[in-house]
This record gives sequence, C-alpha cells and structure tokens, in this order.
Amino acid sequence: MVDFITLLYYTKRNRIWLDKNIQMTAQLIDGKKIAQHVRNNVHSYVDTLKAANKRMPGLAVVLVGENEASKVYVNHKTKACEEVGFVSKSYELPATTSETELFALIDELNTDGTIDGILVQLPLPAGLDVENILERIHPHKDVDGFHPYNIGRLAQRIPALRPCTPKGIMTMIEATKRPIRGLDAVIVGASNIVGRPMGLELLLAGCTVTTCHKFTKALKEHVERADLLVVAVGKPNFIPGNWVKEGAIVIDVGINRMDNGKLTGDVEFDVAKDRADWITPVPGGVGPMTVASLIENTLEAYVKFHSRASKLTQSKAE
Ligand code: NAD
Repeated sequence: MVDFITLLYYTKRNRIWLDKNIQMTAQLIDGKKIAQHVRNNVHSYVDTLKAANKRMPGLAVVLVGENEASKVYVNHKTKACEEVGFVSKSYELPATTSETELFALIDELNTDGTIDGILVQLPLPAGLDVENILERIHPHKDVDGFHPYNIGRLAQRIPALRPCTPKGIMTMIEATKRPIRGLDAVIVGASNIVGRPMGLELLLAGCTVTTCHKFTKALKEHVERADLLVVAVGKPNFIPGNWVKEGAIVIDVGINRMDNGKLTGDVEFDVAKDRADWITPVPGGVGPMTVASLIENTLEAYVKFHSRASKLTQSKAE
C-alpha cells in the first residue's frame, strides 16, 4: 500500500525529505548533491507506486519555437523526469503557433488524466502573450508555480505548487541547517520567476525581506547588511565579493556564459567565499535545484490533486 499520508504530511509542511546526514564541503552549498538526493527520494517513491500497480506521475513539456537554450532546458527536464520513472510527454510546436492552437493543447492536457504537470517553456516567441498562456494551465497542474493562483497562495502563506527556483533555494538553505527566522534577507533582482517569489518564500520563513532592483538606490548598503543574500540579476560578478557580510549565506542564481565558454554567477565568488559562511557555486548550485523542484512539484501535483480526484471519480462510479 502506498504511503500517501506520509508524503502529504511532508508536503503540507513544505519539508521535502531532507536527509539529516547530507555531507557538504565546508561553506559550499552543493546543489548537485542536494538535487540528486531529492531526485533519489522521488525515485524511491515512484518505485513504491510501481510496486502497488499505480499510475505513474506524468509531466507534459511544451516547447514553442526554436530557441536553442530552451531546447537544452527542455531536454534536461524530460531526462530528469524519465530518470525518476515519470511518464514524460514532449510537444514541440513551430514558432508560428497561434494562441488559439496553444490554448487547445493546454486544454487537452488540463483534462488528460495521465498528466499531472504541464510546463510551457519560456520565453515564448513574439506574438504569444505569456500571461495568457500561463493562466490557461490549470493551477493544480502548474508545476512551474507561475500561475497567479499559486503565487497568490504563496503570498497568503498557504503555498500550493511553489515556483521551482525559489523552492529549490529554500531546500538548499534548509540543508545548511542554519535557522533563518529573523534574519535580514536581501534579494537583488525582482523578476516574476525568481526575485518576487523568493521574497515571498523568505517572508514565509520569517526573514525581514528587502527586494532590490534596477531602480534601487544605494544597493551596496542593502547588500552589506544582508545576513542572507540572494542575487538574480544576470550580470557576471555584479556583486563585488567585498560587499558580502561576514558570516552571510549567499545564494547566486545568475547564470552567465563568458567569452571563454565558462559559466559564472552574479556574485564575485572568489572573494565572497572567504566572507560568507555558506555560498552556492555556479555552476552546480541553484541550477540543478530548479529541475529537482520541478520533479518534486510534479509528484506533489500527482499526490495532492490527481490521485485524490481519481479516487473521488472512482467512488462515484461504484
Ligand atoms: P530578469 O532579467 O527577468 O530580472 C533581472 C532583475 O535584475 C530585474 O528585476 C532587474 O530589476 C534587476 N536588475 C537589473 N539591473 C540591476 C541593477 N543594476 N541593480 C539591481 N537590480 C538590477 O532575470 P531572471 O529571469 O530573474 O534571471 C536572473 C538570472 O538568474 C539570469 O542570469 C538567469 O539566467 C538566472 N536564472 C537561473 C535559474 C537557475 O535555475 N539557476 C533560474 C532562473 C534564472
């Protein structure tokens, strides 16, 4: 018998299977390792579903257009799904796809009983309205956590499906076992997918939150007093390492491809790492956690929303 109760208990408290024995290099928050741990746990859960002859969780990934970076991300996500035993369906649509055509596909997936999560890869080609498209996805299948319903739930302290990157960051912070309630948290970057939901997560966790953006005055002063700093701007080494407060937790979300082909973050890592207590590397930090959170969200959607719905349908039919 599959233990749904246990999983629901964990998801309700938003504590997803953190292993107390996780080993990490001093000061480095190893996103790759924590992400693998999350994925292993999801895999084990899927194994119990298989053993109980249950339907497998399903994720549909929709890619519109020819964006090369998007293709790489979609491949990563599909592969990660298959590795944990989910059913994954990919839909590649031409850049000329109309909103009506995309709506039709989303509507079909919304009612598809084998699909628990729907992900429309961003950015979308010009001519498609991102808000309209994201709102068309049923909130219970919105595994990216971008639907206004899910953002609203997070804002009201009753999170449902949470945006993947901030959720992954919270998992990483939890892995440090450092209590964060009451800390001064500063987020640099205020996008819909990272900065804003990150602020809601940290507020929920009891931090005093400041969100900085391109109009912020005296950025340095904000950063210098941050016990917990999250940077998501998209400019290489944008935050000088010597701005980082001694003993801070530093989460670098930025992914910047340099001329030599290497990836670098938004924080000047080499200097910051000698001041912070905990810091994420780029690559191998936040990136892998975003995909791990997507996997978690798909399982959460399966357990919380769809198994219950199918049980109800079944009992009505009996
Ligand atoms: P975005 O361009 O949507 O937002 C950037 C934010 O930075 C904006 O809110 C803007 O106001 C702010 N900003 C710009 N200049 C600034 C300045 N001078 N001072 C203060 N704030 C400033 O970007 P995004 O989608 O949030 O992504 C940010 C970075 O994070 C990118 O490098 C992106 O590739 C990366 N990212 C990584 C992951 C991951 O999984 N690791 C996920 C999403 C985004």
